[in-house]
Amino acid sequence: MIQKLRVLLGEENAVQVYRHSRDESSHLPVEPDVVVFPKNKDDIISVLDIAKRNNLPVIPFGTGSGLDGHAIPIHKGISVNFERMNRIVSFNSEDLTVTVQPGIKRKQLNKAINLHGLQFPVDPGADASIGGMVATNASGTTAVRYGSMRDQVLSLEVVMADGTVVTTGSRAKKSSSGYNLNGLLVGSEGTLGIVTEVTLKLHGIPEHTVTARCTFGTPKECAEAAQTVLMSGIQVLRMELVDEDSIRQVNLAGGHSFPEAHSLFFEFAGTKASAEEDAALTREIVLEHGAENWERANTTSESNELWRARHELSYSFRHIPGMSQSGGDVCVPISQVAEMVVFARALIDESGLLGGVFGHIGDGNFHTLVVYDSSDSRQTAAAERINDLVARKAIDVGGTCTGEHGVGLGKMKYQELEHGAALSVMKSIKKLLDPDNRLNPGKIF
Ligand SMILES: Cc1cc2nc3c(=O)[nH]c(=O)nc-3n(C[C@H](O)[C@H](O)[C@H](O)COP(=O)(O)OP(=O)(O)OC[C@H]3O[C@@H](n4cnc5c(N)ncnc54)[C@H](O)[C@@H]3O)c2cc1C
Repeated sequence: MIQKLRVLLGEENAVQVYRHSRDESSHLPVEPDVVVFPKNKDDIISVLDIAKRNNLPVIPFGTGSGLDGHAIPIHKGISVNFERMNRIVSFNSEDLTVTVQPGIKRKQLNKAINLHGLQFPVDPGADASIGGMVATNASGTTAVRYGSMRDQVLSLEVVMADGTVVTTGSRAKKSSSGYNLNGLLVGSEGTLGIVTEVTLKLHGIPEHTVTARCTFGTPKECAEAAQTVLMSGIQVLRMELVDEDSIRQVNLAGGHSFPEAHSLFFEFAGTKASAEEDAALTREIVLEHGAENWERANTTSESNELWRARHELSYSFRHIPGMSQSGGDVCVPISQVAEMVVFARALIDESGLLGGVFGHIGDGNFHTLVVYDSSDSRQTAAAERINDLVARKAIDVGGTCTGEHGVGLGKMKYQELEHGAALSVMKSIKKLLDPDNRLNPGKIF
């Protein structure tokens, strides 16, 4: 069988098998039996057929930037890499839509369309594939204005587990026709179907942007100021919280000297007048809420420097030799953010572990990132305890255990608590669409 797949789709070697055994999480790697690189949907139909006849799992793989083990082939099988399906299929600038193959990466897509004054604004930080972003319902720093992938996908072409090809939507901006299969397939983590084309909404590139940063004495003040900015109706493009310990870690890792205080990072975008007005109003609000300062950038290089602490944050924690990292991704109603952030910070402090609280505070979505020595059972248990208590509290206050990273392996244990009886509806859907449990088995449920 492996020989047949090799002949069909080429390439399977130790390097590829290693690469497809892991993602950016600390979950244990598992090597697939084989890695395939389809060039079109017919190849994918053939792969599914071979998998069925040999009773093997099929696991889609984007770029492996997932943070919870989504693409790890825990039951081995066939890892399907889309890097040879990375074309723009059709670009309709006048309709503000584009149809792409799933292997295209978001920066590659933007490079092509920015020339036409258009952008695809969902930004998960990593240069992820559009297929992977669809499958995890990714979002990131711009979600406060543009929402998540689910808000941007107009239609998908999907090869279902039995090889049937379906199209889930159209190029129209909205639709009330039939069940919302886009909504179901987006965020399904490769467990319901294999995405072979994605039609996305596009947006104009704003004429003017303003970036700014301010610091506060406590994370609670940060969160309260952010809530007031939102309630004032200001259309921030990005609004990010980074706590004091995170900035300290960025300084340590990168040799910087950013102010070590709880910080809010802002970006405003629109016409020159509207972006400047939003920035001025936000400045007034944050100063009223106890901000110690307000620093704004006047050039692109100043802007990059101002936001650098936010951009380098994740990797400053992730690249500590010999240490593991574990992170949370909760999202709560905006009114609960301040209490949640304080709760999470206190848990990290109590544990004695190195860690930070940061994230997309404008959506109520924030991350905890804790560094621990996985050979030390006390540290491992302490890291797990922080994630667990934060996730449970988020669900308790009306939120979710994952705002953007997805369930993967780590958040399966919260599904029942979060969804109750709806979880059995989800399981029924999985059984109906993939009765042999062939597609990315062992994820979500
Ligand atoms: C430093 C860093 C920062 C990050 N910040 C954010 C953030 O702010 N917001 C955010 O949302 N995410 C963030 N992420 C997580 C990650 O980038 C996203 O989850 C991303 O969407 C994963 O895309 P990928 O192409 O790497 O997919 P992979 O990790 O390869 O796969 C993810 C899932 O997609 C499935 N999949 C891939 N392609 C297909 C397909 N064609 N059909 C069906 N299923 C498919 C896989 O089976 C798997 O379940 C961050 C990651 C890193 C490393």
